Amino acid sequence: MSGKNTILIVDDEPDIVNLTEKFLKLGDFETITSNNAKEAMKMVEENYEKIALILLDIMMPGRSGYSVLEEIKNNERYRDILVVLFTVKSFNEDVQKGKKLGADAYITKPFSGKELLKTIQELLEQNKN
Ligand SMILES: [Mg+2]
Repeated sequence: MSGKNTILIVDDEPDIVNLTEKFLKLGDFETITSNNAKEAMKMVEENYEKIALILLDIMMPGRSGYSVLEEIKNNERYRDILVVLFTVKSFNEDVQKGKKLGADAYITKPFSGKELLKTIQELLEQNKN
């Protein structure tokens, strides 16, 4: 993946971050994590050259995941980074809004590790060409 193998996990729930990180490490991904949107954007600024994908929670205190998604997809330097939104259940509104803002995929919480890895691996594979 041309040196881009880092996944940024952004979620305000530490349990989700820890669990997700564990699964991704099993899939041989490098991970960096953040529990809020503001810090996540700082991490993107500092690491965008190696971030392949962001797993992004929507509902967070302060700035939401939508605002992060919007900022990523409107910035030429960042827009190639894949963004996968974490949504609670299948809130159709979330999906519609996320689509409009340029989300690449969704993972519904609660999720299985298998499903998470599969979604990510498929996305990265498609994105190679
Ligand atoms: Mg949340």
